[in-house]
Amino acid sequence: MSRVLVVGAGVVGLSSAVRLLEAGHRVDVVARDLPLETTSSVAAALWYPYLAFPRTRVVEWAATTYAALEVLASTEPASGVVLREGTEVLRERTPDPWWAEAGPSIARQTALPPGFVDGWTFRSPVVEMPVYLRWLVGQVEALGGTITRMNLSGLPTSADVVVNCSGIGSRLLAGDRSVVPVQGQVVVVEQFGLDRWWLAGSDDGRSPTYVVPRGTEVVVGGTDVEGEWSRTPSPATAAAILERASVLVPELRHARVLRHKVGLRPLRPAVRLERVSDVVHCYGHGGAGVTMSWGCADEVTRLVGGAPARTTSRSGVSDDGRLRG
Ligand SMILES: Cc1cc2nc3c(=O)[nH]c(=O)nc-3n(C[C@H](O)[C@H](O)[C@H](O)COP(=O)(O)OP(=O)(O)OC[C@H]3O[C@@H](n4cnc5c(N)ncnc54)[C@H](O)[C@@H]3O)c2cc1C
Repeated sequence: MSRVLVVGAGVVGLSSAVRLLEAGHRVDVVARDLPLETTSSVAAALWYPYLAFPRTRVVEWAATTYAALEVLASTEPASGVVLREGTEVLRERTPDPWWAEAGPSIARQTALPPGFVDGWTFRSPVVEMPVYLRWLVGQVEALGGTITRMNLSGLPTSADVVVNCSGIGSRLLAGDRSVVPVQGQVVVVEQFGLDRWWLAGSDDGRSPTYVVPRGTEVVVGGTDVEGEWSRTPSPATAAAILERASVLVPELRHARVLRHKVGLRPLRPAVRLERVSDVVHCYGHGGAGVTMSWGCADEVTRLVGGAPARTTSRSGVSDDGRLRG
């Protein structure tokens, strides 16, 4: 058993904490933002591999996660995970998606909204993030882990292994400038009887448009603005999102808006999931952190392994930029 410190309380950090606790480690989570304040809490959150690399690994992690979420949907109603059928529509005839082998069986769709010529329907997990994050917190605590608010200026050294799940915070904590924000805005409206999701892909260079139903509300998106750090919702963007989404689901024109949210997806040319000395890095999940969460958590747990490996360089600064006490 190792003493493991997980940095980050988004979906990646909490899922990793759960798997590490299940593997018998002692786990404490520290995070500047508590779960309901994270980017993860803004996610729509449909299982769908989007804006994440490299594709071969994304497919593996997404496949594991699809299976795990499917189990949660059927065994843990309190988790907020539901399997829902929905349709992705496309403006051009398109071969099967690159992620097709990751889980769901897809069926070509012929009844399409105006402006679309192709599409596929499949069942996918939809995760009601505020409910799910609370459920994950409950799992961490029930397994003996802790979650503490802490704003770090560097990765800690007071554990056998530190697991860095700090998302966009890895620019600072891992000194990694290759992770960049991709701002996403959503509009949350009151549920009006919608039970299937809709997605118009970003295949033609436009921002993806999606309509994802939950129990009492519907999440409508979205935008993807790379390099934008603002988390302030724009009224003009919200109006444009609703206009685009109304083509997919006309009832949205009359839906009651409940709130607006903006999150910063942590995009990296490739998800960083590797062990460097006694740090396991797991960040850079872009637009698919929920979609890959359990697959990555399993890999984090394998990398933490059994025996702690502690190394300190003579300068007191490790090769991953950590200050040593
Ligand atoms: C609008 C929108 C819609 C999305 N929809 C989907 C979707 O449908 N499906 C999907 O799979 N994904 C979706 N995503 C992407 C998904 O939200 C992210 O990939 C995911 O949240 C990343 O999770 P994370 O745990 O790595 O990061 P985060 O949730 O950002 O958590 C990072 C954690 O690290 C902590 N941290 C950072 N810096 C420090 C520091 N210095 N000290 C201490 N703690 C620190 C933070 O406080 C936080 O607790 C969407 C994102 C957005 C914005």
